[in-house]
Amino acid sequence: MPEKFDVVVVGAGPSGLAAAYKLAEAGLKVLVIERGEFPGAKNVMGGIIYKKPTEAVFPEIFKEAPVERPIIEQRYYFLTDTAKIGFSYRNPRYKEDISGYSVFRAKFDRFLAKKVQEKGALLITETVVEDLIVKDGKVKGVIAGRKEGEVLADVVVLAEGAHSLLAQKYGFQKPIPPQNLAVAVKEVIGLPASVIEDRFNIEPGEGVAIELFGKATAGMVGTAFIYTNQNSLSIGVGALMSDLIKRRISPNDLIEAFKNHPAIKPLLRDGEVKEYLAHLIPEGGYKGIPKLYGDGIVIVGDAGMLVNSIHREGANLAITSGALAAKAIIRAASQGDFSANTLKVYEDYLKESFVMKDLEKYKNAKDFLEQNHDLMTTYPDMMDEAFFELFMVDGVPKRDKFKAIKEKALSKRSFWQMVKDAYGLWKGLIR
Ligand SMILES: Cc1cc2nc3c(=O)[nH]c(=O)nc-3n(C[C@H](O)[C@H](O)[C@H](O)COP(=O)(O)OP(=O)(O)OC[C@H]3O[C@@H](n4cnc5c(N)ncnc54)[C@H](O)[C@@H]3O)c2cc1C
Repeated sequence: MPEKFDVVVVGAGPSGLAAAYKLAEAGLKVLVIERGEFPGAKNVMGGIIYKKPTEAVFPEIFKEAPVERPIIEQRYYFLTDTAKIGFSYRNPRYKEDISGYSVFRAKFDRFLAKKVQEKGALLITETVVEDLIVKDGKVKGVIAGRKEGEVLADVVVLAEGAHSLLAQKYGFQKPIPPQNLAVAVKEVIGLPASVIEDRFNIEPGEGVAIELFGKATAGMVGTAFIYTNQNSLSIGVGALMSDLIKRRISPNDLIEAFKNHPAIKPLLRDGEVKEYLAHLIPEGGYKGIPKLYGDGIVIVGDAGMLVNSIHREGANLAITSGALAAKAIIRAASQGDFSANTLKVYEDYLKESFVMKDLEKYKNAKDFLEQNHDLMTTYPDMMDEAFFELFMVDGVPKRDKFKAIKEKALSKRSFWQMVKDAYGLWKGLIR
């Protein structure tokens, strides 16, 4: 006779662990199954973990959690072939009222998993959930890839991340098209703390996050990043799979070109590559969200496409969705009814939270960026030429300089095209 749990959670990433923590806290019998050697072993993130949404589920964990540096400065750079055009916001207030920390997922997820186990959930690792047990259209448990692998449950929480193979197999998620998936590669580059602090103009115990666009991704829809850790930098580049296929560029070529850009190379000088990782990011946005519940099943985190790529947020949506799924399951348990009709409340909880509100706000962003690829290169190139001209002190009268800048800009984009671009940007990203 297979073992029976109240809930089986598939995957020990932030979404699965948040669900398991809340369920175990409520006294339910929970099993978490993770395919990695330990939670976090296979997980990749930039990564900035956001303090407040994480603490809302795991109170006070940052008193002990393994973090690298609190982020006190956010920089945004557009790269052209040779130039860097940037904006930054820095405020040491973020040291007292922390928004996010740079972290390593291998350490962070493992720590979260310990907290989940302390609440009473059972965790088994190095075990792949190969299938679901489904009877009369109702999910009744999972089949794990080990001896006597059948495990029964009232509810299965699918927290399997971006690959979402089980969600696709059971028709919750359609096979994800390449325009809804980004491929990201990341390197961890070792450097002494003092060198990082000098190069990034920070004190010990302070961190910087840099997001980069334009030629950083060869003009494809995506971003690059540089985050300061204690004794290393996390750097990476990600772009839509559809763009990479069309342009026949490999993610590895992308990161090599990024590392050799004249604005980036000096930041990495004498660094030693410690790790190289690659991962998928679900980028379907609001319109790509699958059905998130069924009879005896809920889908959380990346498996449910709950990623806000415009704001580089994923782990916080994962944690919040896991906790809200747990809330729905606890309610279902109190009614003794695990049908889709009862679990549907999970979707209502998500709609009331920042998760769906934010994703809904950016529902047109992906289409806009995909249809306006050249915005990522045309405008940075225009600004590059304008600033180069403007900052060149050469005896040419300023009136002539401004006239030349205007003529050059209009030769690349007509006035009405610029108005249309500004409207599209407002509608897709700001409104
Ligand atoms: C390069 C990169 C940078 C990012 N940067 C940031 C950032 O700075 N900030 C941020 O908030 N988000 C960031 N994200 C997004 C963030 O990593 C994800 O949104 C988040 O990890 C999703 O959590 P999850 O629990 O849903 O999935 P995951 O973290 O992917 O966890 C899924 C888990 O399920 C396990 N699993 C999968 N299938 C099975 C199976 N069949 N059986 C057993 N176990 C299974 C996996 O091994 C894994 O441990 C980034 C992502 C990438 C790729």
